[in-house]
Parts: sequence; C-alpha cells; structure tokens
Amino acid sequence: MIFKTPLMFVLCSATTVLIACSAKDKEPKKTVVEPVTKTTTQNSPSYSTPTLRAPALKNPDVNLPVTGARASGLTYSRVRTNLPYIAMTYDDGPHPQNTPRLLDILRKRNIKATFYVIGRSVNLYPQLTRRIVAEGHEIGNHTWTHPNLKTLSNADVRKELNSTRDIIVSTCGVKPRTMRPPYGALRQDQRAWIYKEYGYPTILWSVDPEDWKRPGVSVVTSRIVNNTRNGGIVLAHDLHKPTIDAMPGTLDGLLRKGFKFVTISQLLALSPSTAATNP
Ligand SMILES: [Zn+2]
Repeated sequence: MIFKTPLMFVLCSATTVLIACSAKDKEPKKTVVEPVTKTTTQNSPSYSTPTLRAPALKNPDVNLPVTGARASGLTYSRVRTNLPYIAMTYDDGPHPQNTPRLLDILRKRNIKATFYVIGRSVNLYPQLTRRIVAEGHEIGNHTWTHPNLKTLSNADVRKELNSTRDIIVSTCGVKPRTMRPPYGALRQDQRAWIYKEYGYPTILWSVDPEDWKRPGVSVVTSRIVNNTRNGGIVLAHDLHKPTIDAMPGTLDGLLRKGFKFVTISQLLALSPSTAATNP
C-alpha cells in the first residue's frame, strides 16, 4: 500500500484498526481445505514404497473368531482339525521372575498363549497379570489354592473358582473363558455343573512334557516338539525356571514344523461342535 500523504496513512491505519476490532466479533472466515487426495495423487512417478526392513513375524497374527463361540464340549484335551493350529498353555503362575522372561520369549515370536493362573498369585502380582493380558494372551481359571478338586465339596469348588474369577476380573478386566483343574483332577459330574454354572469347558492337554519333574531343557523340548500334532494343547508350567529355559528352542522347533500358535478359545472356535475328546 502506498500512502500519498501522512493524513491518508493515519486514516488508513485507523480503518485497519476498526476492521481488525470488528473482525474479532464476527465468525472467523471458513478456510477452504483442499481434498487430501489432490496432494497424494501428485507423487512423482518415480516414487516407490520403501522396503520394510523389520523382520517378518515368526508367528503371523491369526484372526480366528472367538466371540459368541461357546464351546459345546465339557472337556477338551485337543481339537480335531487338519489345520496346523496348536495352543501353548502355562500353568501355576504368574511367577515374578519366570513369567516376565516367558512373556519376552513369546513376544519376540508374536506367539499368543493361554495362562492358567492361580488366584492367590494374581493377588500377589497384579501388574504382571495385567501384562499377560496386555500382550494379547488369554487367562484361564486354575483355582485359588491349587487343590485336588475331586476331594472338595461343590461349595468349596465354587469358592475356589469364584475367588479366582473375581480377582482376574478386578485385576485385568477380562473374564476367564475356560478352566483347568489342578492335576487334571475333576470328576465328570463336577465338569458338568461347572460348565453349566460358569460356562467353562474343562481344558486338559494332549502333550505333557512332565516339565515339573525337571527332566532337563533338551528333554522338555524334544518331548513337546516330537509329540505335538494339529489341534494339540501343550501343557507347561511358568513356575519352573528350566521350563522357561526350554521355551526358545521348543517354540522355534514347533515353528519350524509349521505350527501356528493360537489361544485356547481360538482353538476351540475352530471346531466347537466336534471337538470334545476325553482323555
Ligand atoms: Zn497346576
């Protein structure tokens, strides 16, 4: 703007101030935003997507449906399927040293597992239990004090299952979908009323390396890798350090054989109507 006289400058300045002041009271002018597509389609023809350098996931995510899939069987020790899905299960945790190590090993391989936790340990290690859930694993009910349920009254079995369910819900905000009886000990009539009351199928296993007897890392690995079949449920314990020591080799051995790891609920969803197998 060119001012011919000082008077014009003063007038113009005053006008500018007036406009500025009155503009404050008005709605701001709407800015027209160009559609984003206009800029994204203008990439140079020489542009190419950069190559991703991250290593491929060892166990790709499996999106098997679980919502609404209530298992129809009372007891599962495996699921009948021709697909190479298997479930790793870890009992008797969480343990303050072993469980974090196991979680690191699983995370490195993008493997989701199922943890049958003891209620009183959840009470002792709530943060660790939340980490299990936060990292995509499933939690199952393994009672509060790990008793032989066959010897208990129905009222005492209810106490064990209720207190464990409640601490899991209040700690992590998720409900257990299945239960595993300590020592695999549960009468058929108990399985039936537990399923009716809680909706929990009883989950046993098809592969037992007897890791709690501490047979050595290579024995645990070979027992699991050699005996696991499609639809298998593998039993292990994150209570024992040698079990965790065996896991990298075990999981890598199973991956090399082409198995894909899913949680128990995902495995049951594969074949909910035909999966029931009693050991
Ligand atoms: Zn146990």
